[in-house]
Amino acid sequence: MTHRRNAIAVAGLLLAAATAASAQDQVLNLYSARHYSTDEALYADFTKATGIKINRVDADDAGILARLKAEGAASPADVILLVDAARLHRGEADGLFKPIKSKVLEEAIPAQYRGRESAEGTPWFGFSTRARVVVYDKLKVKREDVDTYEELADPKNKGKLCIRTGSHPYNLSLFGSVMEHMGEQRTQEWLKGLVANFARQPKGGDTDQIRAVGAGECQVAVSNSYYIARLMRSDKPEDKALMERVGVVFPNQNSWGTHLNIAGGAVAKNAKNSANAVKFLEYLASPQAQNYFANGNNEWPTAKNVKVDNRALQAMTDGGEFKAETIPLAAVGANTVKVQQMLDRVGFK
Ligand code: FE
Repeated sequence: MTHRRNAIAVAGLLLAAATAASAQDQVLNLYSARHYSTDEALYADFTKATGIKINRVDADDAGILARLKAEGAASPADVILLVDAARLHRGEADGLFKPIKSKVLEEAIPAQYRGRESAEGTPWFGFSTRARVVVYDKLKVKREDVDTYEELADPKNKGKLCIRTGSHPYNLSLFGSVMEHMGEQRTQEWLKGLVANFARQPKGGDTDQIRAVGAGECQVAVSNSYYIARLMRSDKPEDKALMERVGVVFPNQNSWGTHLNIAGGAVAKNAKNSANAVKFLEYLASPQAQNYFANGNNEWPTAKNVKVDNRALQAMTDGGEFKAETIPLAAVGANTVKVQQMLDRVGFK
């Protein structure tokens, strides 16, 4: 209840700020699920380059989607930054985004990292990627036993697997990707196999799963790449010891490639400043912004021909190269509805 009242109060403030701005005072109301200090520099640079002032509302992804729905046509939001293909798909399916046409974005961002195009345009664009990888105990597990997603469900890995809840968007998207590659029936069998291999009931975030491997509670875990990069960059002795003990595998190098997820942006359905919103998204696709946006969270840029110099990512991938899947993330997002039903059927909490 309090949360809702705060949301409305904040929305009201934003509206007041927007109304108070003079005609020359260009503004952009940004709802962001990203909270990195490097993003601050990014916004400041945008304002410096364009004169457009950014009013930012921070919330988590679920909170942003709920707020947009509650605010409806009165929403002050112009542009939305979300994390995860499953959530971007949710926003698209719920009609919260205004599809856009932008030559700049279409040229910069490969089609696999965009929402489904229609006559009106494209509903969202991805600006950074993260890989969903396997972490294992080097003392107890052979790398070749966990170097594919399929093997995580193999009886040879019984009692070894730690993974966060199945319905968390990171997993929904991974499973939606597996469904795109293996089809519905095999994917449900595979999910059943994962449940059979649990070392414990799902709990905690990705970092907790890695720590559980370090603590000997499980031997195999699934995590987004940037959590591993964060631990690799940590100076804490316990983190250094943890990263000595665990190995990292980018799965399916000999088949369809490792699953990639994205952080992305969209123009809000009821945006009052949509021209500024498009400008902002185009700015995010520029090489300089791409570097900040991706590097700030140890991710990879989506824009063509942009590379980041990130030591942790280099180390994790033996020089930075790995085979990533190439299926459209729009399809992955769309699969997540069916995936949720499968999870209920196989008892994957
Ligand atoms: Fe995360």
